[in-house]
Amino acid sequence: MLGDKVPGLLQCRQCPRLVRHMAALPPRKGLSRKQYWNAPVPGFGDPQARICLVGLAPGAHGANRTGRPFTGDGAGDFMYPLLHRAGFSNRAEAVHAADGLALRDLYITNAVKCLPPDNRPALEEFANCSPFLSVELASLQRLKVVLLLGQGAFSSYLRLLKGQGCIERVGAYPFSHGVVYRPQRGPVFVASYHTSRYNLQTGRIDETMFLKVLQTVHSLAGAEND
Ligand code: SF4
Repeated sequence: MLGDKVPGLLQCRQCPRLVRHMAALPPRKGLSRKQYWNAPVPGFGDPQARICLVGLAPGAHGANRTGRPFTGDGAGDFMYPLLHRAGFSNRAEAVHAADGLALRDLYITNAVKCLPPDNRPALEEFANCSPFLSVELASLQRLKVVLLLGQGAFSSYLRLLKGQGCIERVGAYPFSHGVVYRPQRGPVFVASYHTSRYNLQTGRIDETMFLKVLQTVHSLAGAEND
C-alpha cells in the first residue's frame, strides 16, 4: 500500500497545532497558497522496496509545498542526486510530485506527515502519526532495512518498536551516525544524520558520509534473509 492509500491519512487532522501552522504559513515570495499542498504528505516509492527511508517531517517549502517527501527543498536537493548515484532512482532531481521520479528498492516517508513549527514535532504529534508509519512499513512486504534520518525520526521509530514489543528498552539503542541495530523482531535499522540544510552547512553530514550510509543499507538489504 503506497502512502496515498493509507486509510485516513490524507483527511487526518489529529494534530491541531500542525493544522493551524499549515493554515497560517505564508507562501514563498512569488508563490500563492494555492501552489502549496498544506496537508499530510504521504510516503512514496517502490511497493517492493527492501529499504524504507524515514525522515522527520515535511519541509515548509519542500514537501509541504509539493506534496512529496524531500521534494523541492535543500534536504532533497542534496539527497536525491546521491540516491540516483547509488542506484535507487531513475533520475537525479526531485522537483515536483509529477516529475517522473521513480524509486527502486526504496520507499521514502516521514515520521510525522504534517509540517511542524520550527521543524519540531511534539511528542504527542509523533505518537499521533506513528500508526500511519506503522501501516506504511507493514505494507512493504519485502522490507529488510529501515534507514532513519536524524534523532527525531530515530527516537520515534524506537517508541514504535517498543509499542510493538520488538524491543524492550528505548535507551538500549543510542543514536549515532551509521549505527546498525537488529531488534528482537522486525527489520534491521540504521541511523544517519538528517540531510537538513543546517547539517549540510555545518558539515555534520556530507556526500561521502551519506553515500556510505546508502552503501551500508544496500548491503544489509542484500544480506538479510527472506
Ligand atoms: S501529523 Fe499525522 S497524525 Fe498529525 S494531523 Fe498530520 S497526519 Fe494526522
